[in-house]
Amino acid sequence: MADKEFYGHVIDGAEVESLDGARFDTVDPWTREAWAEVPLGGAADADRAVTAARRAFDEGPWPRMGFAERGRILHRLADLMEEHTDELALADTRDMGKPLVQARHDVARSALNFRFFADHARLATGEALPMDSGHHSYTRFEAAGVVAAIAPWNFPLMLETWKVAPALAWGNTVVLKPAEDTPVSATVLARLALEAGMPPGVLNVVHGYGPDSAGQALTEDPRVDRITFTGESGTGRVIARAAAANLTPVSLELGGKGANLVFADADLDNAVDWSIQAIFRNAGQVCLAGSRLYVQREIYDEFLARFTAAAEALVIGDPKDPTTEFGPLASLEHYTKVRGYVDTVGAEGGRMLTGGLGDGWVVKPTVLVDMPLGSRQVCEEIFGPVVVVQPFDTEAEAVRLANDTPYGLNAMLFTENLHRAHRVSAALTAGTVWVNCFFVRDLRAPFGGVGDSGVGREGGNFSREFFTEPKAVVMQIAPA
Ligand code: NAD
Repeated sequence: MADKEFYGHVIDGAEVESLDGARFDTVDPWTREAWAEVPLGGAADADRAVTAARRAFDEGPWPRMGFAERGRILHRLADLMEEHTDELALADTRDMGKPLVQARHDVARSALNFRFFADHARLATGEALPMDSGHHSYTRFEAAGVVAAIAPWNFPLMLETWKVAPALAWGNTVVLKPAEDTPVSATVLARLALEAGMPPGVLNVVHGYGPDSAGQALTEDPRVDRITFTGESGTGRVIARAAAANLTPVSLELGGKGANLVFADADLDNAVDWSIQAIFRNAGQVCLAGSRLYVQREIYDEFLARFTAAAEALVIGDPKDPTTEFGPLASLEHYTKVRGYVDTVGAEGGRMLTGGLGDGWVVKPTVLVDMPLGSRQVCEEIFGPVVVVQPFDTEAEAVRLANDTPYGLNAMLFTENLHRAHRVSAALTAGTVWVNCFFVRDLRAPFGGVGDSGVGREGGNFSREFFTEPKAVVMQIAPA
């Protein structure tokens, strides 16, 4: 095997090792071999990164620049990301097995995050309130300070930039801790940020694990002003407790168990296409996955036949091959977890129509039917390419089934009936509802979850609320 590539922490503008010299491997889940090495950051490395971010915020030019000047650097970074699409996309593909075509799409979306938030911050307006008392009140949105951004491995670059871009656009400095399975693209991003002219210490990257490692240290550091986290609901609870000790505001984007309702009046071609995307894109490792598919009984058999055929037609293979549509799961640990759900289908009382285990760490597109409502496959987030399909009779039953989960991240529905579309959208407990589509997103819209799916919303003004301290200034206009 070729020598492993090395990608360091990026702290205060320099690419560095951990203080104790420790490193860990990142493994390509297709070849199942280590392809790169990164430093294993601990509390001391997180401390160094926070110190750099603190200094860059308290003394550096970044928070003091105008929005236009910061925006120029963020747009330059987006340009560089687009120029480095292959490098960034391949990093995520090799780190977690995402098909290269999808990884390239993620890079484009990531660059757009910087462009959008740079422009949004520049164009955003605050409130100005003329008061009857002869005073005038207006709102300033001031950068919060140092942001700790803790990211998952399923959309590495895209979810990192989703946090980093608004934080930076509003003048904060950042310490980013990528997931341990997908560290590489974060280092590349930080290199590009320096090349784009971002001052040292503004975007720092520290690698490592969560508990008893760099991640936990970031959540416990009182010099951190905001914690933005995406990951599992259980981890979210741990982080919320850590944040509470310092009263640090925290935003939590957590797990999901998305319901997908297909009504008998749906455009079936459209419903099948999106439903396939909703559960098998990125091998189902999507918080928004439509993992519970409810189909109205009149079309149940026909839909299932078409859906199953489309699932079986997906091209499984080496994610680096541009024709591949479906790759391996991200790690051995995750494969073992997903396999646990596939292996117990019969024991839980259900049936597998298609799918099951593939070669290596592949779980094939898997369709389950007849699963009891209380089974693990129906209730728990599998975070893999495993969908549970069930029939329903009435709209009320569909809504009840959809809402029967502690999660509330998103839901989908397919219908050609306009009234039903609005009625059901209103009745679903979810942060996002897609009608006749999936995964389409406007960066101005709120994004986040209800219940176990999270706390807070991101996007447009919602990101501004989180990454700034709004301040009211009240001025006397004329003496009373
Ligand atoms: P995870 O919770 O295991 O890890 C996420 C990140 O948190 C990693 O960087 C990890 O190192 C870090 N971490 C773990 N424990 C920590 C601790 N105690 N303190 C600080 N940091 C800690 O999640 P994952 O397995 O990487 O991601 C998959 C999960 O993320 C799924 O549940 C998925 O639904 C969810 N997710 C949610 C969204 C969303 O927008 N709601 C998006 C993507 C993924």
